[in-house]
Amino acid sequence: MAKYTAVLRELVEHLDVDVCFLRTNDRVLDATRLVAEWPPRPNAPDPDPLALVYFRNADPVLAATKNLTDVLIVRPELGGHHDRVGTATGREQTSSATVPLLSEGVTTGILCLVKYGNREWSTREINSLKTVAAIVTQSQARIAALDRLRYLAEHDELTGLANRRALLTELDSRLTAEHTHPVALLLIDVDRLKVVNDALGHAAGDEYLSILGRRLAETLPDDLVARLGGDEFVILLSATADMARAEQVARQAQQVAREPVTVRTEEVGRSISIGVAVSTPGTCSAVDLLGDADQAALAVKMAGGNSVLTFTDEMRTRAAVRNDIEMHLRDAIRRDELILHYQPEVDLASRKIIGVEALVRWYHPVRGLLQPDSFISIAEATNLAGELGRWVLHEACHQHFLWRSAIPGLALGMRVNVSPAQLIASDFVSTVARVLNENEMEGSDLELEITEHAVIHDLDQVLITLRDLKNLGVQVAIDDFGTGRSSLGQLKSLPVDTLKIDKGFVLNLGTSPDDLAIVRSIIGLAGSFGLDVVAEGVETDLAAQMLLALGCRRAQGFLFSTPVPPATLRRMLHGPDTALDGTTPVERPSRDW
Ligand code: C2E
Ligand code: MG
Ligand code: MG
Repeated sequence: MAKYTAVLRELVEHLDVDVCFLRTNDRVLDATRLVAEWPPRPNAPDPDPLALVYFRNADPVLAATKNLTDVLIVRPELGGHHDRVGTATGREQTSSATVPLLSEGVTTGILCLVKYGNREWSTREINSLKTVAAIVTQSQARIAALDRLRYLAEHDELTGLANRRALLTELDSRLTAEHTHPVALLLIDVDRLKVVNDALGHAAGDEYLSILGRRLAETLPDDLVARLGGDEFVILLSATADMARAEQVARQAQQVAREPVTVRTEEVGRSISIGVAVSTPGTCSAVDLLGDADQAALAVKMAGGNSVLTFTDEMRTRAAVRNDIEMHLRDAIRRDELILHYQPEVDLASRKIIGVEALVRWYHPVRGLLQPDSFISIAEATNLAGELGRWVLHEACHQHFLWRSAIPGLALGMRVNVSPAQLIASDFVSTVARVLNENEMEGSDLELEITEHAVIHDLDQVLITLRDLKNLGVQVAIDDFGTGRSSLGQLKSLPVDTLKIDKGFVLNLGTSPDDLAIVRSIIGLAGSFGLDVVAEGVETDLAAQMLLALGCRRAQGFLFSTPVPPATLRRMLHGPDTALDGTTPVERPSRDW
């Protein structure tokens, strides 16, 4: 404004007028607004009647400036305008020249020069006024464009909320060491927005997000509500917030999200997953803190959404281990850090070893022996399942070959776990065929264990794979049976051979009537579909006896043996009698081969 005032002052001095002012048109309010004037009016009434004038209330001259396209000269004989100017300035007789500010044919405002008394305007004066007006228009357009750019740089286009960049800037400043109060934020991820996008279109999803964003900001006026992008929002709590307030805000946000929004005649209300993260200034960066909240929100999502979780140090440690494993797993496969342990499967009647399940372990150079639960899911999430699975299959079948070579006449089933990703890989069956061939193994010596989850995922492709495996004579078992959601109908259409009862039902078989009922029904189910059945997790003699009584012959569990390294298993196979009973000392896995 000061810049404009200086220009107006120049005009007053050079053109020998008394007053000069600049007004802009406000198209939204349908009004004209005073931007700058010279000289200042020290005694202007408050509120100033000239500051904002609605066109509908304006005197004829000011009203005429709304769509003014050419210079308007006013001389003392006109009324109206002068009354208002008179009230504001205390002058009676004035002459004025009003020059429109034109931008692409639209009147964006006016530049007006006033002389008390009578004054005429030469053509030269009028032309130079037009030039000044053009320059003012240009500079206003530039300022508006800069304002717009600044706005866009800091706001999210869809919701008008602060965007990621603005949030990071604010977070950075709140996290500097000179502050003492903890910084708390909530990361909100809308649950299953995809359903809305798919059913009603992306525009509808956008509309929901935009309304949700606005409602969050309205509900939480003291906190900074930002949109990170996609369906993610962040609420940065005001500086004095504590954990109790974070919980309260989380509840409020859930409430807001649930309130239905009408999008194209449909009522849309979503649940949300919220991750909370808190940090002391000076201890972490804005990106770290957001990452923590994101982890927590992700954990909520994985557990089904619609809940709140606060990021803890324990989660941080777990994430670090996970990242480390993810970074080094590929190398582990190449560097020979993986080994297979084998858990015997026995015939419950004779207690003889009839098969072994290959179970992978990782001798991590730093973390020591890692169990599969800590890295299989990571392999599956990072596209390494195929490579890992191929290694396991090769290794297990080669071991089978070595045992057969050492023990003539050995009859031993080899059970190998297969990841869902392997089952739908196009070269899976040919890999199995090649490995069998390389190790001179019968298809029927190999039983692949798949999970119900894999089957449900891509049924058509899995069906093709299973039929091709059947042609190789390979057996297929459904592992962890009873924990998934396979329906009877699905089971009937699946060319599988065996159901492997999940250890969760077997561990307490002797004491839990519920588990007994489930195991009995699984064994019955297997019988009616002509499937074999095997129990895992047999830890007690009682469980073993009950299984046998229920008609289950095959079993594995700590009662017989834990998974053991190949050399140990070989000794077990070689024993005077390969029968295992509860008295066999349970050997802990070690690398003694
Ligand atoms: P799973 O295939 O159901 O394997 C059985 C798991 O139960 C093994 O755990 C075994 O040590 C454990 N177990 C056996 N008997 C008992 C018992 O009596 N009591 C108890 N409490 N546990 C028993 P492990 O070796 O830690 O393997 C865990 C899971 O990791 C396996 O479950 C399997 O899903 C997966 N896995 C292991 N190796 C591989 C592999 O090579 N490839 C794939 N894709 N998954 C594997
Ligand atoms: Mg298994
Ligand atoms: Mg299992």
